[in-house]
Amino acid sequence: MVSLSNPKPENFDFAERLLTWFDQFGRHDLPWQHPRTPYRVWLSEIMLQQTQVNAVIPYFEQFLRAFPNLESLANAELDQVLKHWAGLGYYARARNLHRAARIIARDFNGQMPSSHDELLALPGIGRSTAGAIRAQAFDQRGVILDGNVKRVLTRYAGVSGWPGLPAVEQKLWQLAEAYTPQHRLADYSQAIMDLGATVCKRTRPVCQSCPVQSRCVAFQENRVSELPGSKPKKKLPTHERYIVLIVDAQDRLYLERRVATGIWGGLWSLPESAQNCSFDEAWSELQSRFQQRLAAPSPLQPIKHTFSHYHLVMKPLLCKLSNSQTVVAEENGLWTTLPIEHLGMPAPIEKFLAKNPLHQPSLV
Ligand code: SF4
Repeated sequence: MVSLSNPKPENFDFAERLLTWFDQFGRHDLPWQHPRTPYRVWLSEIMLQQTQVNAVIPYFEQFLRAFPNLESLANAELDQVLKHWAGLGYYARARNLHRAARIIARDFNGQMPSSHDELLALPGIGRSTAGAIRAQAFDQRGVILDGNVKRVLTRYAGVSGWPGLPAVEQKLWQLAEAYTPQHRLADYSQAIMDLGATVCKRTRPVCQSCPVQSRCVAFQENRVSELPGSKPKKKLPTHERYIVLIVDAQDRLYLERRVATGIWGGLWSLPESAQNCSFDEAWSELQSRFQQRLAAPSPLQPIKHTFSHYHLVMKPLLCKLSNSQTVVAEENGLWTTLPIEHLGMPAPIEKFLAKNPLHQPSLV
């Protein structure tokens, strides 16, 4: 249920208060602000979709060293892009970024479009990201509603309910539209994000330093800690898979590229079994895939990873082949040696391989 107490934006200049606060306390030295080119703003907005500013900064800087402009990104192979994205997670963002760079190079002469509809039509750019790019890169009217902004507006306007519910989100969009000013768009969008990140924080917000405290419904009604409403709790299921490290007599490891969609799409990883099957079923499936050529497996320590909607437990099996045994690489497979620096891999698999060099006696 959505309930909205009070605010009357026309009686109180929310935007002006925020802008005055921003001039003194906002963040003016983020790497994508200097210089604030459309490419750098776009890249930062995509990285910031699921990741916080402090975690994004080193990835942003190293990604820019590899792909300093849109042209270099459009010309790169997807593998290179995924490699430089590894660790940030949510790889669909990187695949969409790459696809969008190619579309901009082809259809917009390499120049980032500035209209809302053209931005929205690009892969990976939703309504809020399009608004942020328009405001930040072009100083044009663009309305944003990312996680920080949702928190500020839910509290300020006293909006009940979980912001992921369509009715609540719709109400927040109306508020975001109403409060966005007609001028200083880049500053305003940064100001409201900064307020959410540094003052109206998820836990222990600093209301005494807030420029809009005098009209904040949550503050006045002592509801700050209960807003925004929480997502209804659901216990995450656990899925298990066996993964196999096939190592030949030269200590080369067999990898295969995952299908383009789904988790870790397009990344290089270890062959794996179907989900939640027994060891016997998994082993027979893997043996039949590799024409019964796999050596007897030794189980290794499981790898645990949590996604937003489930836990994944990967159970590694080591199969060391002798000189006389061979496994021929399938179309999407390859033999490689560690360390692997040139391929995009899921971060948990890369970490596992880094901790377990194939020549280590404990492993083999
Ligand atoms: Fe957020 Fe507190 Fe400011 Fe209200 S007064 S907007 S709860 S920081």
